Parts: sequence; C-alpha cells; structure tokens
Amino acid sequence: MENKRYYGIDIGGTTVKVGLFEDGKLLDKWSVPTVTADGGRQIIPDIAASLRGSADGAALAVPGAVQPDGTVNRCVNLGWGVCRPADEFTALTGIPCKILNDANAAAFGEQRLGGGRGYESVLFVALGTGVGAGVVLDGKLRVGARGTAGELGHMCWDPTDTAARCGCGHIGCVETYCSATGIVRLAAQAGVTGMSCKQVMDAAAAGDSRLEAAVDKACDILGWAIASASNLLDPEAVVLGGGVAQAGEFFRRKVQNAFMKYAFHTCLDIKIGLAALGSDAGMIGSALFAAED
Ligand SMILES: [Zn+2]
Repeated sequence: MENKRYYGIDIGGTTVKVGLFEDGKLLDKWSVPTVTADGGRQIIPDIAASLRGSADGAALAVPGAVQPDGTVNRCVNLGWGVCRPADEFTALTGIPCKILNDANAAAFGEQRLGGGRGYESVLFVALGTGVGAGVVLDGKLRVGARGTAGELGHMCWDPTDTAARCGCGHIGCVETYCSATGIVRLAAQAGVTGMSCKQVMDAAAAGDSRLEAAVDKACDILGWAIASASNLLDPEAVVLGGGVAQAGEFFRRKVQNAFMKYAFHTCLDIKIGLAALGSDAGMIGSALFAAED
C-alpha cells in the first residue's frame, strides 16, 4: 500500500463506518447513518458524499452474501435485494471498488493486524446477534464459489431440537446456541429470563451455576463446530470475535476446552484466541482487501 490511499467501508444496519488509509495507516475515520428506507437506495450516495478526497481503491463490507462477481444476493438489514453496490460506488466516485461480506472483511483484518496476526491460515468466528465467520488460508481470504465459505453458524448440531429454529429455515444450527441470541435462549431454557447475553456471561463468570451450565452448553457446541471446521480447513489459529467474545478469557477457555474434546489429534495445537480490532475489524479488513492484487 505504499503511497497509496484506500477507503475501507463497513456498512452496518444502523451505521456505516468509513476509514481512509494511506501507506497502510489509518489517516481518518468517520461514520454515516445507514438510511434503509426506500430499499436502501440512499446508502451508497450518502457514503460517496461523505468521502474526503480521491483514493486508489475502496472496498465495501456488507451484512449479506456476496457472490465472487460482486453481486449482492440480499442484505435484509439494509433493505437491499439483488444489486451491485460496488459498481454504483465507482460510478459515483470514480474510485475502483471491491465488495465482500462483513464477517469476511473482519476475518481478513484480524488475520493481518488483529488476533490472528502472524498466522497465515486463520478461521475467524464472529459471535453477535448471529454467528458469522471468515476463512483466510495461506494468507488469502477464501470466500468459495458462492461467497459463503466458512458459514459455520449454519452447521447442524441437533436436527431434532425443535426449540432451536434458525433464521435460515433449518433446525438446530450452531447459531441458535452460540450467538448472543442463542445464549439468551439457553439461559431462558434454564429458567432465567430477561437478561442480555452480557448479563448471562457476567453472572456465569460470577458463579451462577444454572447460567454457567447454559454458557457451557453454548461453548461445547462452538468447540465442536470449530473442531469440525478445523478438520476441513487446517488453520493455524482460530480467532473469536463479536459481542459474545467480549466475555474474554472466561469464554475463550471454555471454547478451547470443548475444542480439545472434539478435535482430531493433528489439530490439537491450533491456537484459539480473541479478536483484537473490535468493531473496526470490518473497516480495517475491507481497506486491506481493497489494496490486495
Ligand atoms: Zn441456520
């Protein structure tokens, strides 16, 4: 990225985070409200109007599936159907633009500069309202034929658990247990309602045995999912991000223990760590992706 400028743009359901990078360093960052009314058609023009000068490239990180040719196939949170936002961005700004899924952008940012720094092959798992993931193998972000590589949140843990209905239409997906929503659901199953995921985690860490059992179940399933994914991907490191992972070492250690229980013997030395870039990961990762050949 020598003497070159890139925009990293992370488009969330309420806010767009924009960062301007030069020589790989963050020069400036700001945010723009996400206007989702009218099919989200104001989102790209609003971003374009906020830019601070030209650049050699940009990348958009979006909360939905992105096909390798840059076509977005629905972003429910933005109001978008099938569209090509990077083309629209370039038409408005004259800046070449790429587009990628937001969890993939965060994965790339964490692999290069965050919790996965120093490792060439990293599985990133983002545990928020849902469970997203991204795969960097041999230093390259890998998105697969349809842009959905690494969708570990929709691996099926228990197809008979009808209480675990997933937004994708299936039953028993990992996301229905291990997301913030899933952990709150498991706490409710244990008889504790009205708590946020953070409150459940804090109470479990403070020794509430019912809630710790709920957290243990989520961590057990996540450890299983990571061990299963590791058999396919063979990462050097796994990075846990998103709001759930803010529980820190308490959470990480439980996931690591579950992983050890399920991992294939050659995978036992995989490092399981925590994300380091916080909510800037998608913005940073998209700028790095914009600068890739
Ligand atoms: Zn699912």
